[in-house]
Amino acid sequence: MKKHTVNVAIYMRVSTKKQADSKLGLEAQERNIHEWLKYNYPYQDYEIDITYFVDEAISGAKFERIQLQNMLKLIQENYFDLCVIYKIDRLARDIEISAHIRKVVINSKCVLCSTTENFDLTTIEGTFVYNINSVFGEYERAVIKKRTEDSQISRLTRKEYPFRASYGYIRDDNKVMQINEDEAKIIRFIFNEYMACHSYEIVRQNLISTYNIKVSEDFISRALSKTQYKGCFVKNGVTYYDVLPVIIAEDVFDTVQKIKKESYKAKRSEQYLYSDLIFCVKCRQRSIKKLVKKPRKRYYYYHCETCNKYINIEKKEYEISSTVCYHVLENKYTEDNTQYINRINYLEKRKQTIIHDYAVGAIALIYYHEVIDAINDEISKLKYKIAIKENSINYSQMNAIQKTLFYQTHVSKIYINFDNKIVENIVFKENKKKK
Ligand SMILES: [Zn+2]
Repeated sequence: MKKHTVNVAIYMRVSTKKQADSKLGLEAQERNIHEWLKYNYPYQDYEIDITYFVDEAISGAKFERIQLQNMLKLIQENYFDLCVIYKIDRLARDIEISAHIRKVVINSKCVLCSTTENFDLTTIEGTFVYNINSVFGEYERAVIKKRTEDSQISRLTRKEYPFRASYGYIRDDNKVMQINEDEAKIIRFIFNEYMACHSYEIVRQNLISTYNIKVSEDFISRALSKTQYKGCFVKNGVTYYDVLPVIIAEDVFDTVQKIKKESYKAKRSEQYLYSDLIFCVKCRQRSIKKLVKKPRKRYYYYHCETCNKYINIEKKEYEISSTVCYHVLENKYTEDNTQYINRINYLEKRKQTIIHDYAVGAIALIYYHEVIDAINDEISKLKYKIAIKENSINYSQMNAIQKTLFYQTHVSKIYINFDNKIVENIVFKENKKKK
């Protein structure tokens, strides 16, 4: 007698690595499913072709499970006759997801079977059982979550710390947090050094030279803002003061927060030397400062809101500063600079011609870009040479505040072509002496 072939999909899921060892573990699910298959589809009558779909360490409340998605796709393509699970909650712990799965299954030739629950999706009663079990799965998930949170809170009130120990701490046999002196020493060093020098980079270097310990600036930054170190632990909006021993005195901790805030402000103004002088050449609007935070870096941009374009102006500092220095010195130059100045005047005229030609479409963008860059480079160098010669402006020695003031004093507008990231024109304030 010819055996009947059945294409079987077996779906299994464990939500945590820990669960793999419990009775809901993968091995247990698989053993159970095989026994069920042996009983319902005896080998002497059926040729069973099994495909496994296993999702590990993922919640049943998530739909974006790779293996589940793969299986549903094949079910839709009528690849399977039978899909076997241990329990509906393996498939979904969310009513909406289980409803979607049910729809996919009943629109295919596939029959869904649970080894521990009895339902037939082609009948009203079977659908009822399926739905009830789905609701129960979701309820159970909510209960588990609540129970975990309750247990965490009751442990916190018993002065236990139910989370992974932070750097600086160690859990004792009674599950109470104690100070790990070797690590706490490093944390205190970081706080003290930072208070003295206000720089992550210097703290980092001193850690290497003093303790031969290499950490990232990010590690230092995070350590400096951990309230745990002053003995405060916050969970669900509640502060617990007695689960973590104090490593850093509160006044030291608070002082460091103040320094961090101020040095951040200083850093910010350093990045925005031109404050509100940057304008868009296209729409003539003033651009705004825009800080873009990425996980490990901050980017300081000027943003034209009208054109929705950005520029990182940092790279233009050399060009802008040399032009402004040159302008300030304009009335002071001596005979020695004549050849430089003639060359600069020629280049400026050439630049205007190129900008005009590009604007009327006479030259290609790539050519425009190349020539303008080359001209700007040469002008910057010439102007810098003159400024140095005159020796009356020492821009490179100015700090961020002096630089900002310098621009505020002499410049009224800086026009930027946001399309090509080119400084097209700098408008200077009227020189009162000239009048
Ligand atoms: Zn614009």
